[in-house]
Amino acid sequence: MAAITAKNLYKVFGKHAKRGVESLKNGSTREELREQGLTAAVIDASFEVEPGEIFVVMGLSGSGKSTLIRMLNGLWDATSGEIFIGDQNLAAMSEEELRTVRRDRISMVFQSFALLPHRTVGENAAYGLEIKGVSKQEREAKAEEALAMVGLEGWADSMPDELSGGMQQRVGLARALTADTDILLMDEAFSALDPLIRKDMQDQLIDLQASLNKTIVFITHDLNEAMRIGDHIAMMRDGRVEQIGTAEEILQNPANNYVADFVKDVDRSRVLNAENIVERPQNTLNASQGPLTAQKLLRESQNSWLVVLNADRTPAGV
Ligand code: ADP
Ligand code: MG
Repeated sequence: MAAITAKNLYKVFGKHAKRGVESLKNGSTREELREQGLTAAVIDASFEVEPGEIFVVMGLSGSGKSTLIRMLNGLWDATSGEIFIGDQNLAAMSEEELRTVRRDRISMVFQSFALLPHRTVGENAAYGLEIKGVSKQEREAKAEEALAMVGLEGWADSMPDELSGGMQQRVGLARALTADTDILLMDEAFSALDPLIRKDMQDQLIDLQASLNKTIVFITHDLNEAMRIGDHIAMMRDGRVEQIGTAEEILQNPANNYVADFVKDVDRSRVLNAENIVERPQNTLNASQGPLTAQKLLRESQNSWLVVLNADRTPAGV
């Protein structure tokens, strides 16, 4: 089962938003809604996030990414459409159930992450646990553990102002990790970081994801970041999801001109691998077969070479 399922999600801001959704369904454009004073932030978005993957939502500023992610944890109600966390319908939950989901299943990391200045780094990291009423001892242990995971081992007793911006952002990630939810929502969490630190954080996130098996929805406006860390990428434009696919799929089969134009400057050597460009043999020859068979297969494939396989199917040569 998918970790998160979104079905035909809409978010329209303004008066009579539901009517706005009806107009969109009947073919009105985003601009036409704007003339009526409505902002169509998310339009008919459907996708599934698999457990344990990094699902990237990529799009320019204003394309609806933050609105989308805020609907996923129920911070904002969808104007129309459905969201399931596992098999639980978010819209059908009571306030109480929603709070439980936000506390136990989904945590969120923002770009501008404000640490509490008069608390230690460790207390900041364990802040979510403090709210939950977890004992001090357990909080400290969890904070140490999470800080170590984000490369801040030994910083628990420092004060926030002793940390660089990049390190403070790591505390934000540590706080989300102490909550120990299986889903992490990250809204431009690395966007304010210097390129080098950012790359470092991307690597760390990929490692964390692999070792902790979290499901991560990661928002970015940076295509290279998206391609680097995303198992799947949803490309958004003007509130709509234009394409969902792996980096390879999007590069090799862009769904439309917009996507094609968008990805044209991506360094393909960083994304594509041998499998994407390999010339596949039409026929293979077993090492024990003779020249007549070889000749027949060569003629069939109209090729001047054949891959020859050993009995155990390992390549013997060409
Ligand atoms: P992104 O995160 O991709 O930059 P947002 O989801 O923040 O995009 O915004 C998408 C659109 O929705 C923008 O046009 C923005 O101005 C509008 N918007 C976002 N939040 C609100 C709000 N609370 N009220 C009205 N319009 C909003
Ligand atoms: Mg945003």
